[in-house]
Amino acid sequence: MLELQGIAVSPGVAIGKALVFDREGYSLAQCLIAPELAEREWERLGKAIERAHKNLESSREKTTANWGARLGDIFSAQQQLLRDPRILSEMEHLIRDKRYSADYAVSEVFAKYAAAFRRASSSFLAERAGDVHDVERLLLEALSGKPTATIRQLPHEAIVVSHDLTPGETAGFDATKVLGICTEAGGPGGHTAIVARGMEIPAVVGVGNFLHNIRSGDEVIIDGHLGRIIVSPDDATKERYLQRRRARQSIAEQLREIRDLPAVTSDGIRIELMANVEFPHETQACLDRGADGVGLYRTEFLYLGHDSEPTEEEHYQAYLRVVRDMQGRPVVIRTLDLGADKMGMVRPAEPENNPFLGLRSIRLSLRNPALFRIQVRAILRAACAGDCRIMFPMVTTLDELRSARFLLRSVSEDLAAEGVHVPCAVQVGMMVEVPAAVLMLDRFIDEIDFVSIGTNDLTQYTLAVDRSNDAVADLYQACDPAVLRLIQRTHQIVSERGKSTSVCGEMSNNPAHALLLVGMGIRTLSLAPAAIPIIKKAIRSVTIGQCEAMAWRALRLSTAREVEAFLMNQLAGLVPEIVLQA
Ligand code: PEP
Ligand code: MG
Repeated sequence: MLELQGIAVSPGVAIGKALVFDREGYSLAQCLIAPELAEREWERLGKAIERAHKNLESSREKTTANWGARLGDIFSAQQQLLRDPRILSEMEHLIRDKRYSADYAVSEVFAKYAAAFRRASSSFLAERAGDVHDVERLLLEALSGKPTATIRQLPHEAIVVSHDLTPGETAGFDATKVLGICTEAGGPGGHTAIVARGMEIPAVVGVGNFLHNIRSGDEVIIDGHLGRIIVSPDDATKERYLQRRRARQSIAEQLREIRDLPAVTSDGIRIELMANVEFPHETQACLDRGADGVGLYRTEFLYLGHDSEPTEEEHYQAYLRVVRDMQGRPVVIRTLDLGADKMGMVRPAEPENNPFLGLRSIRLSLRNPALFRIQVRAILRAACAGDCRIMFPMVTTLDELRSARFLLRSVSEDLAAEGVHVPCAVQVGMMVEVPAAVLMLDRFIDEIDFVSIGTNDLTQYTLAVDRSNDAVADLYQACDPAVLRLIQRTHQIVSERGKSTSVCGEMSNNPAHALLLVGMGIRTLSLAPAAIPIIKKAIRSVTIGQCEAMAWRALRLSTAREVEAFLMNQLAGLVPEIVLQA
C-alpha cells in the first residue's frame, strides 16, 4: 500500500482501477516488416504525409479566417515539421535500413524530437513538444485511417492518472467512465480542477512525481476532501473509505430536503445562490440542486475538447438551451475566457512565457473581433428568450470595457437591422479579477450594470501566484487579507452606486468563506451546482449578525493563516455537524 498527499480540488471518494496515461506520447509497440516491403512502406508514409499536410492546411485556413493569421501560423509551423528534411531522412533510414513499419518509425522519430524539445532550456522550444505530438498523432491517424487512442476515449470505468491534464482534456471525458482524477502537476485554482468539480468527479492534483510507482490496473483510492491518494490499499483502508463514501451519500440525501427552500439566514436575509456552469447540460444539476439561476456560464468550454470552432448557430443553441432550461431565472453568460490554461485549438501564434499575463480572455476576444462578434450575436439572440445577461471577463482597463461595449452596441444594431428584436435592457456586467480593476472601479461602475468578483484570478493576480502551479499552491490563499480588502473595496464602490456584486470564484464553494462573504455584505454567490446544498444549509443556520461579526474580526487579522484558523474555529461553533462533515 502506498499513500501520497496532493491538493484536494474536487470532493468525493473514488475507488477503482487506475488507467495511467503516459504523457511521453503515443509510442507504439515495435513492429518490423519484411525487407521486400520497405519500398511500399516508404510510399505509404509519403501518402500519409500528404494527407496530414492537407489536413493541416484546412485547419490553417479555417483558423486564419476566424482568428487571423497569427493563430493560423500554428498550423504552418506544424506543416514545416511534417516536411522537415532531417525528420524525413531519419524515418527513411528506419524503414529502409532497419525494417521498421512506417507507424513505428513515425512514433520513434517523433518521440525522440519531442523529448529533445522538452529538455530545451528555452520555454519557447519546450512548448513546441506539444506541436511535435500533434503532428505525430496526425501522421499516425493518416497512416491507419482511424483516430489514435487519446485520453478522451476510456475503454472502461477507471481512475485517470496522468502527469497533467488540460481543461480541454478533462472537459472531453465521458463522466460516466471517469471515477476519479489524479495528476502529478496542477494547482488549486487551475481550470482542470474547476472542470472536475463541475463534473462532480473526485480529484486530487499536484501529487508530485509518482507515475513510476503506479501501473494501469492497480487499485486506487482518491480522497477528494483531504487530497490523499492510496495505491493498492489494504482491506481495512478500503473498508474505511467505503464507509466514508456511504456517509457522504447519506449527507447528500439529507440535504435534498432543503432543495426548494430559499437560502435565507435565520433572521431573514435572502442570499441568492447561483450556479457556475461549463456545459449547457449542467442546467439539470442546477435545477436539481435548487440554484437561483446561472451566475457564471464559462462559454469557452464550447471550444475546449472540440476539434473545430463553434459556429454562431452552435453558440446560439447552447445559450438558448441554458436560458430556456433555467425557466425565467437569470443567466449570466460570460464571453470567451480563452488563453492561459484554456487553450483548446485557439492559441496565440507563439507560446507565451507568462500565458496568464498574456493574450488571454477579453484581450484575446478584442484582438479577434470577427470571432467575438459571432459570440455576442449569439448571446443577444438568446437574450430574446429570457433573463440573459452578458459579462466580460478579466477587464483591466476602461478602454477594454469601452471597446467591448462598442462591439456589443454595433452587433445589436446589426441584429436590429436584420429584424431581430434584441431586448434593449440586456444587463451588462464585468468581472473584477485584476487589482487594477478594483483600483479603478469608481470609473468603471457607471458604465456597467453589475459586477462579479472572480476570486480565482483576483487571488492569482493580487498575490502573484500562478493558480495552477503546485509548487506555490500553499501561497494561493483567497482569504489572504490583501484579497479580502480588494473584495471589500469592490463591494463598497458597487453598493454605493446601488448596483449588485456577486462572487463567482471558487471561494463561494467553501462554507466558512461563503459566510465571511455574506458578513462582508455580499448577497449573491455563484458556485459549483454540487456545492449549493451545503452552502444553503450553512446560510440557513446563522444570523446575519453572526456573519457580520465574523467578517469584522476576520478583516482585522494580518495573515491568511490567521484568517483561515479563525474562520474554521467560528464555523465549528455556528453550523450543524452535517456542514462540517460534507
Ligand atoms: C475567477 O477567476 O474567479 C473566475 C470565476 O473565472 P475563471 O475561474 O474561469 O478564471
Ligand atoms: Mg477568472
